[in-house]
Amino acid sequence: MQFKNTKEFAQQLDSQDQLSTYREQFIFPKVDGKQVIYFTGNSLGLQPKNTQQYVDEIMKDWGELAVEGHFYADKPWWDYHERLAEPLSKIVGAKPSEITVMNTLTVNLHLLMVSFYRPEGKRYKIICEEKAFPSDQYMLQSQVKFHGYNPEDAIVEIKKRDGEHNFRTEDILDTIKKVGEECALILIGGVNYYTGQVFDMKTITKAGHDIGAFVGWDLAHAAGNIKLELHDWNVDFAAWCSYKYMNSGPGNASGCFIHERFHNKKDIPRFEGWWGTSKETRFLMKPEFEPMSNADAWQLSNAPVLAMAPYLASLQLFDSVGMDALIEKRNLIVSYLEFVLKEIDKEVDSTFEIITPSDPQERGTQLSVFLHGEGRKLFDYLMKKGVIVDWREPNVIRLAPAPFYCSYEDMYEFGQILKQGILEQ
Ligand SMILES: *Cc1c(COP(=O)(O)O)cnc(C)c1O
Repeated sequence: MQFKNTKEFAQQLDSQDQLSTYREQFIFPKVDGKQVIYFTGNSLGLQPKNTQQYVDEIMKDWGELAVEGHFYADKPWWDYHERLAEPLSKIVGAKPSEITVMNTLTVNLHLLMVSFYRPEGKRYKIICEEKAFPSDQYMLQSQVKFHGYNPEDAIVEIKKRDGEHNFRTEDILDTIKKVGEECALILIGGVNYYTGQVFDMKTITKAGHDIGAFVGWDLAHAAGNIKLELHDWNVDFAAWCSYKYMNSGPGNASGCFIHERFHNKKDIPRFEGWWGTSKETRFLMKPEFEPMSNADAWQLSNAPVLAMAPYLASLQLFDSVGMDALIEKRNLIVSYLEFVLKEIDKEVDSTFEIITPSDPQERGTQLSVFLHGEGRKLFDYLMKKGVIVDWREPNVIRLAPAPFYCSYEDMYEFGQILKQGILEQ
């Protein structure tokens, strides 16, 4: 498609957009009385309007039924979380039995490492990407220390080449081969939080299995953003948060994937609690643990239903649109944003550099832009003008035009504000 950097052209794309009505189903913050242009759905998704109703329903049931709500609420609380598995399974490419929702992301990755990071003999190393999201770095360091190893020896980071912004799959595969039978676990962010690069999860998972390691993925920036086929890719485990592309509210519950080949396996240890026991006998309060036969065996506590409610509300929206339609719009709106950025760059003779891969197969919703000339002042200007973007040191803005609620006109307007901001510096 031949793009144009004009308001008319952007409006024309909006009028052809099958998802354009979803924008009205979200609540936008306002600056100077005007809806913001929201680029930080990769950090905290906007609130869907149907969320309130899902939360109110629990509050009402709690008030009217109190403890009886566990079994007699419209959506009983004791198995409330099970409603999330089916819609989530479609988003991440899994069977519903492979999904459970519990706790928060870093907690879940730790719990999953109880099952999948069990260093022994000379197989004790973890491979991850360099400059992983800080929480992942702290998590991996504390895990290896917990097992008595030195992080400098036990954690092997995949490096980027000098002067390059993205990882090369061949280099990742090389590292995996080199570490070989010393590798116990590969754990990488499926979409890099800083650059937006999408990793070739299928190939990397296979390479990990070929050297006898477990392979898990942190999908914080991937779930609800890119096409995932966790089951078919044979991924061992994965976890994601729900508040980024999944729009379910600050700090909210995390989803986990555990491949079905590990269900009902006695040789896979885990930390256990009563919500992991068989539903049929759970309330008999027996001393023996009888695990659920699916991913719910990893659940510990009874589900925080007030947190599950916004997640369920959001999944209802995902279910009505489907990932394929979201991805189709995502590809077009991201390409349009890329085009607008390049046009503005020419007009103001600036020097931004998009560090996200240009191949649509290697990126999702996010474009990370290195501002060589402009700095923090430009970011402040954008925020003041109602463009909500994210700033990362040293000089990168991250732009994620979430296809659910961003419009093509937003992209055009952003370009104009950006241009003005640069000219005024
Ligand atoms: C956002 C994000 C997290 C956040 O973890 P929480 O436990 O939800 O605070 C972790 N890892 C990655 C890669 C992220 O992008």
